Amino acid sequence: MLVSVGKRGDAQLMQEIGCAAYLTKPFKQSYLYDCLATVVGTISDVRGKSLEQIITRHSLAEDNKQRMQILLAEDNLINQKVAIRILEKLGYQTETTDNGKAAIKALETKKFDLVLMDIQMPEMDGFEATKIIRTSQKVLNPGIPIIAMTAHAMPGYRERCLDSGMDDYLSKPIEPQKLSEIIKKHL
Ligand code: MN
Repeated sequence: MLVSVGKRGDAQLMQEIGCAAYLTKPFKQSYLYDCLATVVGTISDVRGKSLEQIITRHSLAEDNKQRMQILLAEDNLINQKVAIRILEKLGYQTETTDNGKAAIKALETKKFDLVLMDIQMPEMDGFEATKIIRTSQKVLNPGIPIIAMTAHAMPGYRERCLDSGMDDYLSKPIEPQKLSEIIKKHL
């Protein structure tokens, strides 16, 4: 069902009368695509028995988030836990590695959508890992967005991150709002 003006309670009403999905116009082409694909079940069913629940712009956005795979490269256990908790709350799937080498290995074997990269890590730091990722023949997506995470809020650090091939920079401790914004910006 396509409607021009959405009202509160519409989704429930549409579901009651038997609609599988409901979108308010105008909508982005990608929403229509995702909507149709979800209805006919060609997208992996993150939502399980999704068709028992009417599909809306909101549910499509949530599904999209759940399909996003984020790789977290961070060696500090407490920072790991904090980041994982925030990412879970935001609705993203997360995998964690604790050094640059392991991050590269993960990117060679599995498709991720974004990397959160600590700078100081044992074995291989974030700068070196990023340089290798950008030029690697084995990494599945060498152009993957990489966001640096560092406690060093020093002048010049941001430039160093960008110079080594990172897309953006986030200082620790991580604030949920900032993390959410920076992820959305790069996905
Ligand atoms: Mn570290």
